[in-house]
Amino acid sequence: MALIVQKYGGTSVGSPERIQAVARRVAKYRAQGHQVVVVVSAMSGETNRLIELAKKIQAQPDPRELDVMISTGEQVTIGLVTMALMELGLKAKSYTGAQVRILTDSAFTKARILSIDEQNIRTDLANGYAIVVAGFQGVDENGNITTLGRGGSDTTGVAMAAALHADECQIYTDVDGVYTTDPRVVPEARRLKSVTFEEMLELASLGSKVLQIRSVEFAGKYKVKLRVLSSFEEEGEGTLITFEEDEKMEQAIISGIAFNRDEAKITVRGVPDKPGIAYQILGPVSDANIDVDMIIQNVSIDGSTDFSFTVHRNEFNKAMSVLKNQVQQHIGAREVIGDDKTAKVSVVGVGMRSHVGIASKMFRTLAEEGINIQMISTSEIKISVVIDEKYLELAVRVLHKAFDLDQESL
Ligand code: ASP
Ligand code: MG
Repeated sequence: MALIVQKYGGTSVGSPERIQAVARRVAKYRAQGHQVVVVVSAMSGETNRLIELAKKIQAQPDPRELDVMISTGEQVTIGLVTMALMELGLKAKSYTGAQVRILTDSAFTKARILSIDEQNIRTDLANGYAIVVAGFQGVDENGNITTLGRGGSDTTGVAMAAALHADECQIYTDVDGVYTTDPRVVPEARRLKSVTFEEMLELASLGSKVLQIRSVEFAGKYKVKLRVLSSFEEEGEGTLITFEEDEKMEQAIISGIAFNRDEAKITVRGVPDKPGIAYQILGPVSDANIDVDMIIQNVSIDGSTDFSFTVHRNEFNKAMSVLKNQVQQHIGAREVIGDDKTAKVSVVGVGMRSHVGIASKMFRTLAEEGINIQMISTSEIKISVVIDEKYLELAVRVLHKAFDLDQESL
């Protein structure tokens, strides 16, 4: 007998029929003697609908009140899933975040989980109940309802699995696992049987949005065995997120090609090359709450240099005006230029650590297609380049092929 946490995303509970399918899967696991805790999202589209509704009343919705209302999507789902389980003859019981007591901090709309009181759920499980918990929501120490940020039900799932020391946390979604890249861009993309946590973090943060990043970090920290599966298929083992690299010995050096269309590049030209400049440029940017991704500073010629970095495209204008108004004159930079039509492509793989020549292969592949590389950054397990966005799909396709990730080639 195992204790399994199953998390179902919005499309997996998107209709009464889908909810009944969830109930049938839970019943199957119960019939095999397993204890099951189900964590659910709101029905697909519901959270967006609620946010839009709020904005009709308040252009900038009050965060506490927004959480009060957007947390209702999940509350509807837990009731429906529990009823569907009862209809199949199972003992079942729903819990909101507050009823579990998923204690969070008070950062409305992006709260963090502090602790979970799992005692009542344990007792219910022991008494033969299937448990259905609302994802995405918690309660702060003053009893305020909080939410965990978009996609936060993943984190609820993983956190419940950690608190209950579950044998496995299964994340059910509308794809059957983690792919070598987005199959909409490369039809030959393959499902990975397993991927390490580190790789998953890169693949998720770089655009393969299968799991909320925070949930992957959480699973890594608490050593939760995590598996991504499709709720639209009866069978299939999905993708297992592993800790050990050795399990991947027989696999390719590169696990996947991640990409991000939302990069914008900003260059501050002709800045003095002296201590404190990076801080003077990026300090005001970070004070304006703008996240900076890649950063590059050139070697100085005659004591002056260029400083480039990327931000999310949505924050491009804001960042440009911060730099023009607060920074340029202040530090005596020649000019600030920007390009919001850029994209980032990354090759990701823990195998890179023990293999040389990955970067040169990547650069050669792009060169052969005449794709200009504007910026490069590397870490132990990834190499990222910034390129003109119009070449993004071509770049992803040729890299996918060059690194032998195409189907059938293995
Ligand atoms: N319903 C929330 C959202 O749409 C949480 C989730 O689905 O994970 O972001
Ligand atoms: Mg989701």
